[in-house]
Amino acid sequence: MRSYSLLAPAKINLYLEIVGDRPDGYHELVMILQTISLCDRINLLANCTDAIRIHCDHPQLPPAQHNLAYKAAQLMVKQFPDAFAQYGGVEITIDKQIPVAAGLAGGSTDAAAVLVGMSKMWQLGLTLPELQTLATKLGSDVPFCVTGGTAIATGRGEQLDFLNGLDNLAVVLAKHRHLEISTAWAYQTYRQQFGSESISKAENGQSGTAQIHSEPLVKAITQENGIQIGQLLHNDLQKVVLPALPEVAQLRKAFQREGILGTMMSGSGSTVFALCDSQLQAQQIKQDVKAEMNDPDLYFWIAQFSSAGIQVLA
Ligand code: ATP
Repeated sequence: MRSYSLLAPAKINLYLEIVGDRPDGYHELVMILQTISLCDRINLLANCTDAIRIHCDHPQLPPAQHNLAYKAAQLMVKQFPDAFAQYGGVEITIDKQIPVAAGLAGGSTDAAAVLVGMSKMWQLGLTLPELQTLATKLGSDVPFCVTGGTAIATGRGEQLDFLNGLDNLAVVLAKHRHLEISTAWAYQTYRQQFGSESISKAENGQSGTAQIHSEPLVKAITQENGIQIGQLLHNDLQKVVLPALPEVAQLRKAFQREGILGTMMSGSGSTVFALCDSQLQAQQIKQDVKAEMNDPDLYFWIAQFSSAGIQVLA
């Protein structure tokens, strides 16, 4: 029986600007997404039955049918009925290392891994564009997670322009374990508080402005200029999350210390990251912030920028 083991990496947002509302209810975004080396591990095993089963003992994950990895497998069954008839369903085991509801696309990357793994397991030989088309049906971040690296994401976040990979920077990430932020809540609150601002931007045809705003950061990335990258980090959602959740604001403040390149909340939070020149520096920052905050609910991770998307190990 064929089994596959895959690494599914997290992403951080180096940039997130809300440009306007879309007729489909989503926001028009300009983001710069970056893969990091913090990964979930996904194992797939063909089970020769008609069942899809999820095995994961992480307490914060929803019931199997609501797991994005399950939805990805369901989509493969629907799209490729002949392969399903030939090989049967799949046992999906998730070793969850990426914190949940943390702004790190943990669910999206698990779903991307299932698409890549099942394409292999069912010998479909899907190309990257084919996988990305499927990924779009599962969520805005899933197409990026398939490919990984560094990309400008526009539209709902699914239209991708890849940049030359950055892998010489390190990050220290921190998150309060009990603090889960719903992405929907963050965007809805932003719409309530700042909606008219972004709608008028869009109505005035200024959506290109966001690309102009993000341009200096794109240039800094192209030039691999860590100092400038750190100075140009940006996230509109901080405007709603930091006032609502003082713990996140306090964490962001604690990271603003000598030596780091920059600090920002990732996605809709609640993870905050500090950009560092090296893993050694990241270790030092972690120790300093941990000692200063002295909060047993606060968890830390150290990771490296990475240009790898979903990796098939065996
Ligand atoms: P994003 O940055 O893509 O908005 P996120 O990193 O903030 O997402 P996730 O960890 O992907 O958040 O979780 C978002 C929601 O999806 C959670 O409420 C969680 O219950 C649900 N979910 C479904 N499947 C998964 C999965 N495999 N891993 C993590 N969360 C999942």
